[in-house]
Amino acid sequence: MRTVRTTCAYCGVGCGIAAGVTGERSVQIKGDGAHPANAGKLCSKGTHLGETVSPEGRLLHPVIAGRTAGWGEALDLVSARLKACIEEHGPDSVAFYVSGQLLTEDYYVANKLMKGFIGSGNIDTNSRLCMASAVAAHNRAFGEDVVPCSYTDLEEADLVVLVGSNTAWCHPVLWQRIEESRARRGSKIVVIDPRRTETAEQADLHVAVAPDGDVALFNAVLRELKARGLVDEAYLAQHVAAPEGFWDGLEGSAESAGVSPEVFEQLVDLVAAHPKMVTMFSMGANQSAQGTDKGNAITNLHLATGRIGLPGTGPFSITGQPNAMGGREVGGLANMLACHLGFSGEELAEVADFWAAERICTGPGLKAVEMFRAVHDGRIKFLWVMATNPAVSLPDAGFVREALERCETLVVSEAIADTDTGRFAEILLPALAWGEKDGTVTNSERRVSRQRALFAAPGQAKSDWKIMSEVAARLGWGDAFAWANSAAVFREYAAMTALAAKRGKVLDLTDKAGLSDEEYEDMAPFQWGGALPLRERYPTADGKARLIAVAPIAASAVDPAFPLILNTGRYRDQWHTMTRTGWSPTLAQHRREPLAEVHPADAALYDIADAGLVKITTPSGTATFRVKVTDSQRRGEVFVPMHWTDVNAGEGRANRLPSQRVDPVSGQPGFKNSPARIEAV
Ligand code: SF4
Repeated sequence: MRTVRTTCAYCGVGCGIAAGVTGERSVQIKGDGAHPANAGKLCSKGTHLGETVSPEGRLLHPVIAGRTAGWGEALDLVSARLKACIEEHGPDSVAFYVSGQLLTEDYYVANKLMKGFIGSGNIDTNSRLCMASAVAAHNRAFGEDVVPCSYTDLEEADLVVLVGSNTAWCHPVLWQRIEESRARRGSKIVVIDPRRTETAEQADLHVAVAPDGDVALFNAVLRELKARGLVDEAYLAQHVAAPEGFWDGLEGSAESAGVSPEVFEQLVDLVAAHPKMVTMFSMGANQSAQGTDKGNAITNLHLATGRIGLPGTGPFSITGQPNAMGGREVGGLANMLACHLGFSGEELAEVADFWAAERICTGPGLKAVEMFRAVHDGRIKFLWVMATNPAVSLPDAGFVREALERCETLVVSEAIADTDTGRFAEILLPALAWGEKDGTVTNSERRVSRQRALFAAPGQAKSDWKIMSEVAARLGWGDAFAWANSAAVFREYAAMTALAAKRGKVLDLTDKAGLSDEEYEDMAPFQWGGALPLRERYPTADGKARLIAVAPIAASAVDPAFPLILNTGRYRDQWHTMTRTGWSPTLAQHRREPLAEVHPADAALYDIADAGLVKITTPSGTATFRVKVTDSQRRGEVFVPMHWTDVNAGEGRANRLPSQRVDPVSGQPGFKNSPARIEAV
């Protein structure tokens, strides 16, 4: 048995794995005791990765219009279609939709190809569904996309506030660290979530906030802290700028947040008594038509009370995916250039110069939901989807399917032979999966770790960066895409971070730009920016961070046709659209089917029986689920999991239901708050 140190395929905790390779496609999985993210711990998903590495169900060769093809023919066709589309309709008629499952090296090459050579900003990622609102909040508050915390802060805090996060299920190893810290030193845990989740069950206080009540709640808490004299005036004066009228404009109350006066009082007392406080927020905050404002309401509280930059303090956005952060670093979001740069003339010129770009883009591209609208109405004619399943995962998935159906050229790079999205593709390209890829990922605390190959590539599968490089070469850009290996791609990216560093941003990997192939192979996990102690300057015009005035959005009138609120989320033992976890028999035991969770009073009102079938309908679509009647739901609200697809379930596909409504700043969809109705089948 040979042991290979690598990183888990799933969530943004980014646990290290010591993989004992025992055969051609078999592996014994253990936590890597030397990895700072998990110190040997793993959750159920990571532990059972070995059950998901079989070649069964893999896409093993290129496919064109349903027939097996060779790489040469497939890549010639992709290149010819790209070229014709750009020449005939311009660069903005093409788009890439990529994924937090890509390694940073893949992401870097995709971004360089689109923004520096095709000449469009139209590359976006499924991370848009995950933490784009937190990115926008960081940019507004700090002048850059930086998470100012580390996992050790969760252990050093006296109070951990979890907002919109079922941490025990969705980031289980972090939850273990938080719980161990509580047992060791008596820290307190508050959960702010409309649902009484498994995490909320174990909290010292559960604040069952109304859907999208977070801005009202955090504004009200901050107003109360100010009244109690707990604002850090010295820190504010030195490090933070506030817009005029900020303190008078803190709108919101416990009542408007749907929280009782007693629970609100308990929350404020806990916050007031524990200056060493981390607020960790996740999809429940980000996936909202007001996700950016929520991130800033949280960050406002930390900046105003000086609870940032000190051990055990800070606002901490936790990402869902294994490499959401790495994608952000290299410009995987349509509204960022590589290395956390924006689109000013100076930034565009420097990036063009660094890449020796053929045709630099001129500004931001279309964000995910807008991108699929543009595919639907024919403005985008060539779409290349990599390592993601938008036919299931985007909101209003029925509309997305229509868009995919209409797209003139749909290319899908996939590891799996049969996916909901792949069924629409004209050209399918076989990509490497976890256990075969070689590169880096960055976890939620900015820690870069190596994902290393355990097995040889199955069939004709290739790495995503290599596939794109071969297309670029066919388009005449071979010199700019001529890397020998993923180490060479990483070195180029690391050198490029000089453009961020010279602007005073934290992202700086220039000390890695000269790594040899061997040093890259052996590279130990490292955290860019380190522990980020108290900062003297932020990369803003005056060097100060910003308080951002945010106000609750007025609730729209309830449509009698859709009197309920639908919330979607995850199960503990499944991942995204189950293309990997669906192969594990052990993981399937946790939940065998998607369940709609309904409050007992609503079950009585709508004549619904526990374990019966219901149809849930929203203005976007209908889906069918078995019912679980539970008082962990607030009355008037329904929860369904998002994992099931046409391929694995048929009718229980949750993302037919949410609308295309997005946060106006971040473009992140509001999956957590859709008007709905329910009826027994
Ligand atoms: Fe993998 Fe996340 Fe579980 Fe760690 S907590 S083992 S990264 S799924």
